[in-house]
Amino acid sequence: MAGKTLLPGEATLGVMGGGQLGRMFVHAAQSLGYRTVVLDPDADSPAGLVAHGHVQSGYLDEAGLQQLSAQCEAITTEFENVPAQALEQLAQSRVVAPAGSAVAICQDRAAEKAHFAASGVACAPYAVINSEAALQAVSEDLLPGILKTTRMGYDGKGQVRVRSRAELAAAWAELKQVDCVLEQMLPLALELSVISARNAQGEIVQFPVQQNLHIDGILAVTQVPAPAVSEALQAEALASAARIAASMNYVGVLCVEFFVLQDGRLIVNEMAPRPHNSGHYTMNACDVSQFDLQVRAMAGLPLRQPRLHSPTVMLNLLGDLWFDAQGVERTPPWDAVLALPGTHLHLYGKSSARVGRKIGHLNITAATAEQAEALARQAAALLGLPTAW
Ligand code: ATP
Ligand code: MG
Repeated sequence: MAGKTLLPGEATLGVMGGGQLGRMFVHAAQSLGYRTVVLDPDADSPAGLVAHGHVQSGYLDEAGLQQLSAQCEAITTEFENVPAQALEQLAQSRVVAPAGSAVAICQDRAAEKAHFAASGVACAPYAVINSEAALQAVSEDLLPGILKTTRMGYDGKGQVRVRSRAELAAAWAELKQVDCVLEQMLPLALELSVISARNAQGEIVQFPVQQNLHIDGILAVTQVPAPAVSEALQAEALASAARIAASMNYVGVLCVEFFVLQDGRLIVNEMAPRPHNSGHYTMNACDVSQFDLQVRAMAGLPLRQPRLHSPTVMLNLLGDLWFDAQGVERTPPWDAVLALPGTHLHLYGKSSARVGRKIGHLNITAATAEQAEALARQAAALLGLPTAW
């Protein structure tokens, strides 16, 4: 089914998952005149609330999948834990981008690392821990390390830092002995990511490299242009991301996350088969956003190289902001934040703020990177977010 052109205003596009990424996909599709349908089990999902249609069902529910495919010409996904077999089933009668086979690789850290190796891109030294024997056989070189469940991890969940064999054994028990990878703890200088979009003809376009700061395992700040990454390293990251996408014949938007080590080496961390939190800056900084390209790729529309028109800082807004120092719920001072020039607030319409939950993001655009950074620090100070980055 891949390669079919679905013209704006004429087709219905579907998305598996109703979170904020689905919501921003729906907005982008709607602005091109597409009808949209979301499949999500939650009656109040952020994307379900804004789409033309909402199929309220589980991701493997036979009737739900049939309803979705009956209503849509093409279907994408907004999170990587949608069962790959559901995507494969939908692909029998509909355009599905990305394919279930690519999502299956991204869902499993062991498969993902094998794919990086096959693409000729270095990742952290690691071992798969899937048995008592594998645990015993772990090389000392991997310690200290991070034990990560192979499946279902996000925002640093499903990860335990371990310094010794004893801690490793305890951590694996704590993770209920599910399949894991143990990664060597690397000396990071900084983190970056690349968003690529690839179509069924194999054409690829890429946004500029993003520099990302994580706090407590969750993305906090993204800066573009990346302030501390050399041209050569940016070129290497873009080329590596393109190889990773091409070698799985990927169609859609793909985010690849990298580490830059203290010795300057570039190491791939992980990837997501969808738009990514670190690509939200594109909504205000570029002439097309990552969500526009997601729509174009699945609809078979031309992909054009996006152009960054404004240096931008993105601040992630977590539920923590909705509570004051005494833990009393409040509304953050948006009026003061929006009084700053170049501020673009995106709230996801989530029904309840919870500590650690992603509720929105704030893009701060300016004529120069220095101005964007200074304004972003002012906004962060008004909101009570960290300003030391
Ligand atoms: P997300 O879904 O938010 O991207 P995740 O839960 O999938 O996160 P990872 O990207 O694997 O988790 O790790 C989260 C963060 O932990 C990384 O961004 C990095 O800061 C740190 N980290 C992960 N692996 C390593 C490593 N091998 N060495 C050093 N730091 C690491
Ligand atoms: Mg990550």
